[in-house]
Amino acid sequence: MKDFWCEINLDKLEYNVNLIKKNTCKKIIAVVKGNAYGLGIEEITRFLSDKVETFAVSTMEEALKIQSNKDIIILTPLYNFKYINEMKKNIIITIDSEECLHKISKDTKCRIQIYVNTGMNRFGVQPNKLYDLIQEIKSQYKNIIIDGIYTHLHNDKDIKYTLKQIDYFKSITLPFINDIPNIHCLNSNAFLNHDLYKAADFTNCIRVGNLIYGYSGKNSGYKKIFNYYAQIIRTYKVSKNQYIGYNNTFKTNKDIKVSLLNFGYIDNFGCSKNSGNGLIYNLLKKIFHYFRPPILISNKGETVHSIGKFMNNVLINSDNISEDSILTVHMSSILADSSIKKEYVISNL
Ligand SMILES: *Cc1c(COP(=O)(O)O)cnc(C)c1O
Repeated sequence: MKDFWCEINLDKLEYNVNLIKKNTCKKIIAVVKGNAYGLGIEEITRFLSDKVETFAVSTMEEALKIQSNKDIIILTPLYNFKYINEMKKNIIITIDSEECLHKISKDTKCRIQIYVNTGMNRFGVQPNKLYDLIQEIKSQYKNIIIDGIYTHLHNDKDIKYTLKQIDYFKSITLPFINDIPNIHCLNSNAFLNHDLYKAADFTNCIRVGNLIYGYSGKNSGYKKIFNYYAQIIRTYKVSKNQYIGYNNTFKTNKDIKVSLLNFGYIDNFGCSKNSGNGLIYNLLKKIFHYFRPPILISNKGETVHSIGKFMNNVLINSDNISEDSILTVHMSSILADSSIKKEYVISNL
């Protein structure tokens, strides 16, 4: 019996990618950081390998998990250059400063992209230093190929702010546009916004994560590619005027049927059950008693009410639910425990 799992529809993933292609000629950089937003980096990249131009991750460890010959950009500037000579040719590292550059030896062959800071102030070369950085690479590091320049739109819900940011990025990159092959700044939300998309007409790639997995763009026809499902593992009767769960928070007002599901709030905390009785687990348990993150459960579209507060299991009132029902559990794959079983399916849409 499966009891709790995440189903990932690869055909919907393909549908989303095709819909993007219908709407743009720009290259698609599929963002697969954070284990492909929790959906499994190996499987997602294997499936997308012949469908997108490039992948993007946050770390070298993630990049090394990808079995594809497509280009892979590591979006976080690299600070540890230990593996740089052994890394596969399709990995492109990010540089955002002279300090970063100076850690690369002059005979190292590699491709880089330059991250420019246009307001997020997390990392990124300051725009007034970009020219010098590029000149230094060209004159001193003959084995480095500058593959791209990019920035991140960190406040994409504020269109006015982001329009200004894109214009600023344009003014910074314009002198290099004929020289450097990839210029990009659009993420999912910015790509979906007509004005931002138009303002970014000088760019030739988009970096999309949320959109391909269906977190964004529902109104534009994009499909959510995953769902969590649970099956009942045990059902029993509880008679009238009995309490259920910790702290007697629930009391029955009639005889009811109760069913146990094999997942709990811990599965939705973004931390692993494997942490056992460690500090974090115990801390979360404490926090949990005050604050319960909502997990919605439904059965054929109807909301199912959970009973009591449990860390590892959910109890539901199953008076109107048959034993073999497959219940939908509405939770975010980004926060979900990575150990939850994943099933990749291709169904006809
Ligand atoms: C995560 C990330 C993206 C993808 O953002 P979405 O909103 O998921 O499309 C793009 N660029 C950078 C630098 C990122 O870190």
